[in-house]
This record gives sequence, C-alpha cells and structure tokens, in this order.
Amino acid sequence: MEKKQFKAESKRLLEMMINSIYTQKEIFLRELISNASDAIDKIYYKALTDSTLVFDKDSYSIKVTADKEHRTLTIRDTGIGMTAEELENNLGVIAKSGSLAFKKEHASQDGHDLIGQFGVGFYSAFMVADEVTVTSRALGSTQAYKWESTGTEGYSIEPCEKADVGTEITLKIKENTEDESYDEFLEPYRLKSIIKKYSDFIRYPINMDVTTNRPKEGSETELEPHQEEQTINSMVPIWRKNKNELTAEDYEKFYAEKHYGFDKPIKHLHLSVEGAVTYQAILFIPETIPFDYYSKEFEKGLELYANGVLIMEKCSDLLPDHFSFVKGMVDSESLSLNISREMLQHDRQLKLIAKNIAGKIKSQLQSLLKDEREKYEKFYTSFGRQLKYGVYHEFGAQKEALQDLLLFHSSQEGQLVTLDEYVSRMPEDQKYIYYATGESIERIEKLPQTELVTDKGYELLYFTDDIDEFAIKMLMTYKDKEFKNVSSGDLGIETQENQTDQEKQENQELFDYMKAQLAGKVSNVRASQRLKKHPVCLSTDGEVTIEMEKILSAMPN
Ligand code: ADP
Ligand code: MG
Repeated sequence: MEKKQFKAESKRLLEMMINSIYTQKEIFLRELISNASDAIDKIYYKALTDSTLVFDKDSYSIKVTADKEHRTLTIRDTGIGMTAEELENNLGVIAKSGSLAFKKEHASQDGHDLIGQFGVGFYSAFMVADEVTVTSRALGSTQAYKWESTGTEGYSIEPCEKADVGTEITLKIKENTEDESYDEFLEPYRLKSIIKKYSDFIRYPINMDVTTNRPKEGSETELEPHQEEQTINSMVPIWRKNKNELTAEDYEKFYAEKHYGFDKPIKHLHLSVEGAVTYQAILFIPETIPFDYYSKEFEKGLELYANGVLIMEKCSDLLPDHFSFVKGMVDSESLSLNISREMLQHDRQLKLIAKNIAGKIKSQLQSLLKDEREKYEKFYTSFGRQLKYGVYHEFGAQKEALQDLLLFHSSQEGQLVTLDEYVSRMPEDQKYIYYATGESIERIEKLPQTELVTDKGYELLYFTDDIDEFAIKMLMTYKDKEFKNVSSGDLGIETQENQTDQEKQENQELFDYMKAQLAGKVSNVRASQRLKKHPVCLSTDGEVTIEMEKILSAMPN
C-alpha cells in the first residue's frame, strides 16, 4: 500500500502553536535573544576548527531597539547569519531547528551550550507582532536576504542589502486591543526588565540605546537629553565565577539584586557539581522569616536556569519542604526542557539535582551548628520549626539526618541543646531522655512533675512548640534512648514505697471520693512519690500526652 505523508493546515497549526505553547507573551524576547546568542556562539564554534576565522569576543553583540513612532522592535545580532536556503529551512519549516542540527554536527566539540533545539521559539514573535521581517547575511557571503511574514499568510524571501554579517529581526508590534496591550513591548524600561529577567546571563552584550540627561555644555545647571548605548545584561553569571574571586559582599549583593529577601543571609553556598548531573547553584540561608513563611501563601522554590537562561522562577521540586526556607538559583545544562522551555520534560535529572542540593544544605547546617553556634541558633529561631516538621514528616535516613539539627530548651543553664549534647551528659543510671511540655519555659518550670527529674539531677528538655512532642514521638528514640514525658505514669525513676498499709487505706477513701467528684475528667487518683513541693499533679498513662491532646482537640477536623 502506498504510504502517504500527513498534510497539515500550517496556517492553523502555527496559530495554535503560537497561542498555546507559551503562558506569557514577554518570552518572545527571550527566544529571539537566545537565537541571537546561538548565532554568535556558532561563529565561536566554527572558529575553533577553522583557522581562517578569528573569534574576537568583543566584536559580537546583540542590539535591541524600540521605535515607538513606527511601532517596531528590532533585535540585531552579529552572529553567523542565514543564507537564503537556511532562511527557507529554519524559518520556513516549523519545528526545524538549525541549532539542533549544528549541535549534532559539532557534537565532538564542546557545542552543547547552544540554547535552541525545538525549532519553534522564533514563531513566538507572532504573539506580539503582526509582521516579522528578518534580514540576514550569512558568514562568508556577500549577498543578504530578506524573509518576511505576517504569520498566517505564509512568507516570502528576496535578496536585499545588508552591510554586515548577521541577522536583524524587526517586529511590527501589534496595535492594542480592548483586552490586550502591546505598547509595553516598545517601552525601554519594560524591555530592559524582560532582558534582565530572562537573559541576564547571555554571554554576549545585549545593548540598548537609552536616553539620559547630562549637563549641557557650558552650563552648570541646565541638562540636555543624550543618547548612549548601554549593556543591559550582566553576562557572566556570578555562579560561573571562581569562588575564590568572590567576596561575601558579592553574594550579599546578588541576594539583594535578586530580591530573595531584605535581610542579610546567614550563610551562602556556592556549588559547582559535575558528574551524574552537572549544575551550578548559589543558595542562601536567610536570617529572618519571610512574613508569610508559615502560611499557605508561601511558595518554596529555587530559580531554575538552563544554560544561563531563566526557565522557572520558583521550581518547588528542587527543595524538600523541610528546607523550604532556602533561597537561590540552580543552573544546569543537563535538563531536558519541554517545548515551551517553561517546564521540564523528564524530572530524573531534576530529582538528582534536588537530592544533591538537599544533602549540601544539610551538611551546611551541620557545620554551622558545629562551628558557628550563635549563627545557627539565630537561624534556628526562625526556621527550627520547619526542621521539626521535617522530622515529623520524613522517613528513614532523612529523619535521621534532621534529628541532629534540632535544638531544644533545657533545664541546663537555660541554653538550647542538641539531642546529642543531652545524651552525652546523661548520668549512667538515667534511662530516658526526659522532657516536659508547656506554653513557655516559665510555665514548664512551675510544673510539679518536673521536680522529681530535676531533683535527681537529670536534665530536662523543655518543649514549648506545638510540634515538638509530635516530632519526638516520630523519632521514638535517640541513640537508643527513649523519650519520656515527665507527666507520663511511669518515669522509670526508683522511689521507695514507704507508706504503711494503713496510710494507703486511709488515703484510698480520700482518693475514691476525689475520683467520684472528678468523674469523666480523670481516670484515676493515686498517691505519688514524684511530688516534692506540690500537692498534686496530672499525669497520663497512654501514648497521647496532655499537651498533645490539647493540640489535637484544637485542630480543625
Ligand atoms: P531553535 O532556536 O529551538 O532552533 P527557533 O524557532 O528559535 O528554534 O529558530 C529556528 C532556527 O532558525 C534556529 O535553529 C536557527 O538555525 C535559525 N535562527 C533563528 N534565529 C537566528 C539568528 N538570529 N541567526 C541565525 N540563525 C537563526
Ligand atoms: Mg530558538
């Protein structure tokens, strides 16, 4: 049987594609700039093997020019350009990527920095323009060509004049409609911010002409407008720089510029990992809690870049919940992106990166705890609760890793202590890790139940946070020592029964009376050896302690 090729209503397909792939119009600029950067990169890769070509980095740039009057936006590059045939193949065939082909051709070289791969990004221009003109002169050619299209009506290619090698793309920006405004794409400040957002780390300068006021010649007070070319992008991302060349201020500046927070971060981590996954990351442990941190509104996540181009502003998969306070970014070349480059195709690499990152954060916190206790305690005051949630929710190794990061108040010198510190100074005859729960340290210290333990010279952990006891219950033991609430029935502390039978008998009547009076409120009333200064205390026999019961009954069902 004869095999037939699918035909496509290309007009419709293009329309559908343009309007369905991308969630935001502004990314057209990211796509066109990425193409321009790829085009310059191609000269660079060609020069590696072609001795007649010299690549002088300084002579390559990308220029963005807005003309409000004519409603045009132009993106010009000094890259490799396109021949008539290439214009036809790359811009005339949807989903054909010259860059992907180039990458394959130069696979032996280090060519994987090219951004393009799907062959659709270019058409995103039609989201904001109703006409796109591309004039291009290919490297090694004297003839230039003009490609022109209104998107739905097909395209035309004809020879034209162009003084230099490279490509110039002119968008005729759409007129505003009732629901959509396109004027913003002609506003220099808006264009600048889009470039900053997505393309800040493109390796070549992205220039714009900006008008500034400067003092008029011969006058001290008068100003005159003056146009000058400005480079908008920072080009070299701080995370690709050598750690040794960077100061603490550089990182703090980055933190502030990125609007990660208004505080000064307690600690930064600069990671450059190669192996199963390759990525760079700069992570921060903030000092102060974001105002919405413990609310539903808070969104965790790190910025995700693929090869220096921003893909996602908050990639939540990169952080486990218990480290949701971490701010920062990750850049990787080993991600497979989906066609809109807004999402990831497979999350295998992402999972590897996330796992790796979690490990690094954990060890950073561990060393902070070990070497810079004061800083750690500051951090813990803000985010310790989140770690406890982690202990409560996580399993196995994760839980184990987190338990050593916990701090609790204790009866010892009113200091925060780790479980390890507690256990290491336990007297030999002490069987359990004792704790007491209450709203505040002061309240706990007044609890009658604490007396027996502290009189014995045992240290007592003070649980003042709702989550404390829940987390500890999930741990069950630490270094083989069980946790024991001082209000539980059996404290495991030896006491002598020195009451006579008669005394017991006398008391029994009193207890029965009390029990009857308190029916439904207590299950038993008995004599206790644990009381010192206080006449009475409440204790529990089951798993759920009084404090936990309070919290559980306060929770909405
Ligand atoms: P992709 O970048 O994913 O390959 P695009 O639709 O963005 O897809 O671009 C299609 C192709 O057009 C590119 O692969 C490249 O070969 C070519 N191209 C686009 N813009 C330029 C440019 N400024 N200079 C040279 N070639 C370009
Ligand atoms: Mg592209």
